[in-house]
Amino acid sequence: MTTLKDLKTPINIVWCPGCGNFGILSAFKNALVELDLEREQVAMVTGIGCHGKIVDYANVNGFHGIHGRVIPLATGIKLANKNLTVIGFAGDADCYDEGWGHFSHAIRRNIDITLIVHDNMILGLTTGQTTATSQKGFKTKSTPFGSITPPLNPIAHALVSNGTFVARGFAGDPKHLQNLIVQAIKHRGFSYIDVFQPCVTFNYLNTHEWFRKSVYKLEEEGHDYTDRQKALEKSFEWDNRIPLGVFYKEERLTYSNNLPHGKGMPLAKILEENIDITPLLESMR
Ligand code: SF4
Repeated sequence: MTTLKDLKTPINIVWCPGCGNFGILSAFKNALVELDLEREQVAMVTGIGCHGKIVDYANVNGFHGIHGRVIPLATGIKLANKNLTVIGFAGDADCYDEGWGHFSHAIRRNIDITLIVHDNMILGLTTGQTTATSQKGFKTKSTPFGSITPPLNPIAHALVSNGTFVARGFAGDPKHLQNLIVQAIKHRGFSYIDVFQPCVTFNYLNTHEWFRKSVYKLEEEGHDYTDRQKALEKSFEWDNRIPLGVFYKEERLTYSNNLPHGKGMPLAKILEENIDITPLLESMR
């Protein structure tokens, strides 16, 4: 049985005190415990940004990749070993700026991975510049007179890309987020959660207090998550009333199901059993 103690690592957490990333880490670990997933069964991938350090703070298989490439890495791991539960963690700049092209294609292919986006609407690691989800008018180091472009709507984009699991959470409500992560991991297909993750150091607009005042839960208002059109309408709600929860969910064949090796033994296992990779490893010494 997996416990929180098993998931602890000896590495000191260096996020700023009060950062929303703590809520995501806690929700993630508690979700793994709730699902009783063995550490060896889980692979996490992160990109570049403050969020990326999460790979050091959870004791499961991990790969800290390059900027914008969380989805291709997670896809490769899943296609090579379909028995793994693969979870990608990306930042908003990481996924919605640098990695934007991967986002829609992974969604439409319905690759069986989970993507959690730490959406703090600013670049934290590089000390405060706008990203694709920064609010219009937001003054930062890169937009000293205020951002002149409206933000992307990633939830709407995921819905129109035929997403099969589209949700939004809030790092300030880790219990609710834990439940979303559990549902996302159980979902067969591409499950996506955009998480509001306040950056207490550089984002003075979208603070914990601002989110707490603005958010409500879709499930408490009887939202029908099987209705894509309704979900799309909800995805445009913003001012003073921002929905959290599952916008849309459906079961559909995954990308692997449609591949020849999708039904048999995992590719990694076939390679392991039939190919001696010792010479290759030796050549890399
Ligand atoms: Fe968190 Fe912002 Fe600090 Fe980065 S800079 S650790 S996102 S509070």
